[in-house]
Amino acid sequence: MTRIPCDVIQDLLPLYYDEICSESTKQLVEEHLAVCADCRSALEQMQSSLNLTLQEKELNTLEGSGLQNIKKWWSRTRWIAFIRGMIVAASLCGILIIGYWVLFRWNIQPVSSDQIKIFDIRARSNGEIAFQIQIRGGYAQVKNTLKDDGSYYITPVHPLIVSKRDKTNTPVISGMYVNPLNLRAYYKNHGKDTEITSIYYGSPDQPILIWKKGMALPAGD
Ligand SMILES: [Zn+2]
Repeated sequence: MTRIPCDVIQDLLPLYYDEICSESTKQLVEEHLAVCADCRSALEQMQSSLNLTLQEKELNTLEGSGLQNIKKWWSRTRWIAFIRGMIVAASLCGILIIGYWVLFRWNIQPVSSDQIKIFDIRARSNGEIAFQIQIRGGYAQVKNTLKDDGSYYITPVHPLIVSKRDKTNTPVISGMYVNPLNLRAYYKNHGKDTEITSIYYGSPDQPILIWKKGMALPAGD
């Protein structure tokens, strides 16, 4: 039997590889392959190159989805970063606003009593106790406290830092009237029935006495 030339076998190899040749062709190819190393390596090459193509294909698909995942992840982290940035910015704003408010707007600091002068205290005929107040340095608000022992404190307060706008170098003078009986009625309405026995102006730490029960005040309307 004459040996079939290698190029004929190699022409047939694709058909053989794809298993679309006849039984007799298959037999011829296998007989040749059994004795020809060249054609065997040609077949191996074909197999490995086809495998490679498959692997490449899979790799491409993987890369495709990988890229999509990265894109998704990227846009998600961009959003997360954006939201995180917004939260940080908002928190900073909040801290600044709260800080400003605590320092410049929160009226918690009683005006020192050496900045306060009380004068012209008198008893009005309608039962009110009237007096004049002179305050230096500016104040924003007045806080009232009734202690259980019946002492009533009228405390001018200002923020920890008085801004230049609110600071007054010229003393502020104002008049005030307090009626101990009306005060008692007011507190009774709010659940605290205590007889008002003394009235002070300023911080409870350094109070300035206005009136005490039994004290005789000059009369005057
Ligand atoms: Zn051959």
